[in-house]
Amino acid sequence: MNPFSRRSALLAWLALSLAGGVWLFGQRLAELNTRFYQDTSITHRLLSQRATQHEAVLATLALEAAPREPARLLAGLQPALPGLVALGRIQHGVWRGSAAPPPGLAAAVHRASTLRHPVALPAEQARYWLVDGQGQALLIDADRLLAPDEWPAALGNLTLQLPQGRVALLHRQPNAPRFGWPQAVDKPLGAKSQPFPLQSRHEVGLAEWPWGRFALWAVLAALLVGALYGWRQGRANAARERERARLARVARLNTLGEMAAGLAHELNQPLTAILAHVRAAERLLDDEDERDTVRQALQTSAAQARRAADIIARLRALVEPGARTRAEPVDVDALLGSLRFLLGPELAERRIALSWHDESEATRPLADPVALEQIVHNLLGNAIEALLGAPGERRITVSARRDADRYRLSVADNGPGIPPEHLPHLFEPFFTTRDGGLGLGLPLCETLAGAMDGRLTAANAPAGGACFTLSLPLAKGAQ
Ligand code: ADP
Repeated sequence: MNPFSRRSALLAWLALSLAGGVWLFGQRLAELNTRFYQDTSITHRLLSQRATQHEAVLATLALEAAPREPARLLAGLQPALPGLVALGRIQHGVWRGSAAPPPGLAAAVHRASTLRHPVALPAEQARYWLVDGQGQALLIDADRLLAPDEWPAALGNLTLQLPQGRVALLHRQPNAPRFGWPQAVDKPLGAKSQPFPLQSRHEVGLAEWPWGRFALWAVLAALLVGALYGWRQGRANAARERERARLARVARLNTLGEMAAGLAHELNQPLTAILAHVRAAERLLDDEDERDTVRQALQTSAAQARRAADIIARLRALVEPGARTRAEPVDVDALLGSLRFLLGPELAERRIALSWHDESEATRPLADPVALEQIVHNLLGNAIEALLGAPGERRITVSARRDADRYRLSVADNGPGIPPEHLPHLFEPFFTTRDGGLGLGLPLCETLAGAMDGRLTAANAPAGGACFTLSLPLAKGAQ
């Protein structure tokens, strides 16, 4: 499975945030538009109602048989008509009103009687006279048509086109906000005598958008994409791990053939020793005086048989997946003692001196004793082989030292050494320069070392001869 790249995760987050943002902002805009159109419609209805009331008042006054005194009439009407400022009428050709008559009154009366509905005459500021055909007139202040608390919340600027020009009734947005979203309604008042065009304007400012919810959504989207990214990453890692394990298993199976050949090579040595010792014991069996020698030969045979069984167990463990080596602090001194006993006759026969220098400051390596014994046994065997035919004094030196948190064990000989061009190939399976050699001893040693978190290296000593060094972890308690 292809893991999600960081780039695509980022793009997915951006797309998700953007989609959520468009939805949130769209919702908010729809909500703000609904409120604005509703509030404008309410205001329009209220203003139209007030204008219609003025017409109704004029019609009622026209029916009065005995007209009242203007100042008293005004005081009586004002509580119900907040926009009414003054009133008056032409009676028997004379103006009687609470304020001076407007210019052009006679012409307006004439026009109203012709049209059969009142007409508006301009006055100062936001005021106008409403004049009917009977000569009655009301002075209206458009600014006072609605009380301050009657203006709905969602409105911005509101203007009314009066006979003298456009006047502002509401001025909540003196300056248009930056990046504002415009809202507009144009509609004349619904009163026959005062069809003044009403203009409602509002701009949705930055502060009115749902930034908080958008930020929350972006965080949620980040968490969602992050979780998906982590999940896909985890699955990809698991798949990679499975693939790695499969390859390792294939590699192990590939070395199975190598192991089989190695097994024969490794078992040959103890089996030959068993055969030799058992034959010797058989020969000496009837001789009473040789009983001890017979016992020793049988004991050696039993030890070699155990070693052969251990080798088989070790090889089986190496080809089984998940096999773990047994790691414990190993007494290298004792191990070398037993190897010296095992190889004693061979060393003596070839006149090879084996010396052991322990400079490990009483530390011990953490290793599998059987695997370690196999490695050292192999290295000693190779050194013995290399010294065959070497002139002069023949020496094998085994030395141990502590190097920081590693235990280093070297097996050096004063034989011919390793030609530099052979050095890179020593640990390759089947690399051998010996007649009858299998070229499996060193690859096996390297595999065994690797399984113990160890490392085996080969070099030529400055004074001549080969030197193999095994580096192993140091046992904790012995550090
Ligand atoms: P084999 O012993 O079957 O040849 P090994 O893997 O043990 O297989 O060794 C591979 C080769 O490494 C040997 O053939 C030899 O050329 C070289 N070699 C190993 N040990 C020594 C040594 N102590 N001195 C010189 N050459 C060595």
